[in-house]
Amino acid sequence: MTEIPRRDPRREWIARNRLHPEHRELLAQRAGGTRSEWMGPGGLMRKDPHALGFIGPNGIKRIDRSGGQQGGQVAAAGSVATQDSRRVVEIPEPAFLVAVVPDMAGGRLSAHDRDLLGLARQLADTDPERPGAVLAVLFGEHKDSSLGEAGIDRLLHLDAPGFEGFAPEARLGALVAVERAWQPRHWLLPDSPLGGADLGRRLVARLGERPATGVWQLEADAEAPLGWCCTARGATDSLDFRRPLPRLVLALAECAEPVSETRHAARGMALPVALPSQLARIEDLGPVAVDPAGVALSEAEFILSAGNGVGDWAGFHHAARVLGATEGASRVAVDDGHMARDRQVGATGTWVSARVYVAVGISGAIQHLQGIQGCDKVVAINMDPGCDMIKRADLAVIGDSTRLLEALVALVEQSREEKRDAA
Ligand code: FAD
Repeated sequence: MTEIPRRDPRREWIARNRLHPEHRELLAQRAGGTRSEWMGPGGLMRKDPHALGFIGPNGIKRIDRSGGQQGGQVAAAGSVATQDSRRVVEIPEPAFLVAVVPDMAGGRLSAHDRDLLGLARQLADTDPERPGAVLAVLFGEHKDSSLGEAGIDRLLHLDAPGFEGFAPEARLGALVAVERAWQPRHWLLPDSPLGGADLGRRLVARLGERPATGVWQLEADAEAPLGWCCTARGATDSLDFRRPLPRLVLALAECAEPVSETRHAARGMALPVALPSQLARIEDLGPVAVDPAGVALSEAEFILSAGNGVGDWAGFHHAARVLGATEGASRVAVDDGHMARDRQVGATGTWVSARVYVAVGISGAIQHLQGIQGCDKVVAINMDPGCDMIKRADLAVIGDSTRLLEALVALVEQSREEKRDAA
């Protein structure tokens, strides 16, 4: 038998899509446990807090539509984990550091960043007797108040103006200074187009070490030099490679479960070495405006999505233009011919991860909710206060979609006019 690992693209796709109905089962099979509990690499029993659905007090299986992803067994035992009940973890004297450089798109941890921090925790927590600390290096201003909840023990926040915007040389200089000061056992960066992929490759070139890119899975391996093996995607996504985990890792989204059970100190640190003087070879001229209509749904940050409750389609398109939003749609809106097929959001459309998703006249069928699970903030405009989209939403507006969109457009235009007058 050949030892070359053979890929099963369907199983991989299921393993990477947390909401696929067979996802839990597949992961449990791989880990050799039951659906919601399995043995982790350190020999500890792990519980999956993200199991879809849980048994309610009356014994009926419920599906969590809140976006909070309550765990099956946790809820069944009547001890739903809230943020306040998280175990607080302090690591006063870490045995080593795992350095993470999140993208912090828009000043907040993205879902990809949180997955990466989950991966960092796996590496830091391998040996409970000699735990490591996760050090996050953050550039520029940030607005995230949940850094500790995301698994960060130590924080190096570099917010001098030279690090803002596109500043790869200055950022690279700072990372090299971190390397010199603390020699992290691992470096983890998101293999993402938002900055991580570029900065990570610059760092490996500067340090002269061979990295692992496109990493999406870790496995403990006592024979590997650092105690871990990783599976990484390569050959333009056509092959997976299993190899010993190197020190520098660029990981894909969904490489690990984000931290959900513990809260960490996110204690600030200062670099004990001087930062290199800023290079002025690159000048950031600021972001370039793009046509939101041309942005792929899966990459859009702000989506205005239409459902069967939209009455005035011209008004909806006008609102999307004025707000600068990318248009999405429910399947009914697509099937009725109001929107193109490539705009459909949901289980059989595109899975989106916008920072803001505005659902206009969409009821919140489970197939649609699955597709917006990765969105940060959901706003619902609907006539029915009891519908599932309103239950899922962070902000809900009850009323007629046509009138509400008109009012929203008027407000935005008025505010822009006031700003123009004031300037
Ligand atoms: P409706 O369910 O008709 O809801 C319309 C909503 O608009 C209601 O909540 C109503 O209160 C509100 N409304 C009505 N009038 C107004 C008004 N004037 N102002 C404001 N609100 C108003 N669907 C998807 O979206 N994506 C998928 O990928 C997908 N995949 C599917 C796969 C399968 C195998 C199946 C069986 C179904 C799938 N569906 C999918 C369809 C899904 O089950 C729902 O039928 C669909 O999402 C409903 O679309 P809707 O919310 O736009 O319409």
